[in-house]
Amino acid sequence: MPVLHNRVARLISPRRLILTCDAVSEDLPQDFVRIRIEFCGVCGTDRSFYLGHRDEGYPISLGHEHCGTVVAVGDQVTPYRVGDFVAIDPNFRCGSCVYCRTGAGHLCESSTVNWYSNRGYANFIDIKASYLLKLPEYRSRHLGALVEPLSVAIHAADISKCTLASEATLVLGVGGIGTLLVFNLLETQDGEIWIYDKERHKTAALKELYPSRIKILDSADDRVFKVIFETTGSSDGFLHGCALLAKLGRLIVVSRYHSDEPAIPDRLSWKQPNIYFVHLNGHGDSFARAAALIKRKWEPDHDYLLSFHPLSSIDDVFTKYEYLPANKKIISME
Ligand SMILES: [Zn+2]
Ligand SMILES: [Zn+2]
Repeated sequence: MPVLHNRVARLISPRRLILTCDAVSEDLPQDFVRIRIEFCGVCGTDRSFYLGHRDEGYPISLGHEHCGTVVAVGDQVTPYRVGDFVAIDPNFRCGSCVYCRTGAGHLCESSTVNWYSNRGYANFIDIKASYLLKLPEYRSRHLGALVEPLSVAIHAADISKCTLASEATLVLGVGGIGTLLVFNLLETQDGEIWIYDKERHKTAALKELYPSRIKILDSADDRVFKVIFETTGSSDGFLHGCALLAKLGRLIVVSRYHSDEPAIPDRLSWKQPNIYFVHLNGHGDSFARAAALIKRKWEPDHDYLLSFHPLSSIDDVFTKYEYLPANKKIISME
């Protein structure tokens, strides 16, 4: 096998994301697969690492919305072959702990065991084969980078048990995860959905795709909602969600508050709300459902919601993140 060079984006301290170049090892463990990564989306979690709001030590590689092509397989790997197009579920599932056995593999007791060489902003990854999902043939390879975040959106929608046709539903924040929540709900249910984002071009971009089914909430509007998905990642967004929630409503928080943890508003308990925190993608089924929904429903027009940036300018993407207009940003490994 020729020596391969692997550019890997590594965060060496807050706001310092650099590209290092590793020689790829000659050996591949028996149950591992080597993947040439093609695309990897940018998630709010990556942003919070970058900003130093979350610290798991340095250096650390980032990116967990990756897809690519299998270029080598270990001796014991049977389900995958060289040339397969795959997405990577970042959550390890041991298959035998109490959570894995009861349909909550995303909460696996071994979930933090990282059986891979590096994360997704890189040319190559060596990873245990059990993380992979073989993807259908997409019209374009970048669609593989939407599978992981869409699987989180699907899990959040499942937990909400929302019915658009009969319950007023609002998505607060239409960055990557909020946009995919709207896509999932509108493509799998009848009815309409309300959206809000202080960056109005993002709500406008979604409205253009679904003109008759999306309503954009005005910031002065004080109507209340039975179901609210809070995806802004800011304590203001959480408080906004609490204020707009109907009595007995469901608030689904698909955010983490690393820099400014919100206080619970005093009047909230009078509504007897149901509040759920969702950060992961549920049992393995949501990952496969996401892959299939992208295949069936993500049309070329949906691509206007995305922007693409080469790995070589990844530091720029994180530095200028707020000024990049697309709802969802994706890194391309070229
Ligand atoms: Zn993520
Ligand atoms: Zn487990």
